[in-house]
Amino acid sequence: MSAPDDLSFATLPHAAPVSPERRAELLVDPGFGRVFTDHMVTIRYVEGRGWHDARVEARAPISLDPAAAVLHYAQEIFEGLKAYRTADGGAALFRPEANALRFRRSAERLAMPPLPDAVFVESVKQLVSADRDWIPSSEGGSLYLRPFMIASEVFLGVKPSSEYLYLVIASAVGAYFKGGSETVTVWVSRDQTRAAPGGTGAAKCGGNYAASLRAQAAAVEHGCAQVVFLDAIERRWVEELGGMNIFFVFDDGSMVTPPLSDTILSGITRDSILTLAKADGLTVAERPYSIDDWKADAASGRLREVFACGTAAVITPVGTVRSADGEFSVSDNVAGPVTKRLRSALVDIQRGNAPDPHGWVTRVY
Ligand SMILES: *Cc1c(COP(=O)(O)O)cnc(C)c1O
Repeated sequence: MSAPDDLSFATLPHAAPVSPERRAELLVDPGFGRVFTDHMVTIRYVEGRGWHDARVEARAPISLDPAAAVLHYAQEIFEGLKAYRTADGGAALFRPEANALRFRRSAERLAMPPLPDAVFVESVKQLVSADRDWIPSSEGGSLYLRPFMIASEVFLGVKPSSEYLYLVIASAVGAYFKGGSETVTVWVSRDQTRAAPGGTGAAKCGGNYAASLRAQAAAVEHGCAQVVFLDAIERRWVEELGGMNIFFVFDDGSMVTPPLSDTILSGITRDSILTLAKADGLTVAERPYSIDDWKADAASGRLREVFACGTAAVITPVGTVRSADGEFSVSDNVAGPVTKRLRSALVDIQRGNAPDPHGWVTRVY
């Protein structure tokens, strides 16, 4: 059973919100994922009753029974999207319907009940509305929204939970990478993979991240910012980074990105870039690309630019590729013109500084 689309939200404003002075201090240099707003959204689900008790309330610790299913079998999914401060002082969300759809698909894969798309979008709007003063107006700043759902039934048996808790929290974030034209060095994980065919790689679930942390730590140990995962079968095809999709730009102006499958997360930034690149007259092929192609095309000079993309960092240029058997670099480690152009086109739409021909921006009042 699912909720009616008009599930109404009870608003219980925070009794002692952070003062405007303290908030201004926190917003100067918030970093990523450490500064949280005053409120959160909670909605409960019980089998047979459906979604109910939607609230916007003070952000606070939640209490969970130690036998809550999520703590044992990791039945959890999440989303990530941003609200931006618009030039006129308002607020805008970028493609929240796409996150709602992906959340529903992730729920299906993890045997969780679907949250109606309209309820998802409304929950995010409600939180942005309640905490609109927390949206940084600094360049590159935004309010990162984290909707997620956990299995809350008190039972140690292995089966889909019959009770769930959905929440949305918000975190003020600064520019992910300062400067913006510096490339990152990536580590190719040869021994560990992120996702296997038939697994949960295409679902946005915490378990995928738990499985990727060791490889990410190895990347950092080797002086790299991010890890590149190869396919689990041949250990040859480039899939994605730990939390970002990847694009390759060639000397003839064409682009390649790995095709979506059940081992690659369908990024909304990826999808937006495909649309913007095509509108820009670039040809983009969604086709398999191997780590050997990457090395050979970098050596021949045919490969001009590589970038990773995702909501948190938008577009990150990739330079050096390091692995257990050496390293190579693409275009002298500087962000290329196509990377910069696509990033500006996307950011300008997100921030309301450019027309929105694809209907991607949702104003929040
Ligand atoms: C969220 C995520 C992405 C990027 O998706 P966006 O919608 O662009 O933010 C890419 N890969 C993984 C594994 C992710 O979890």
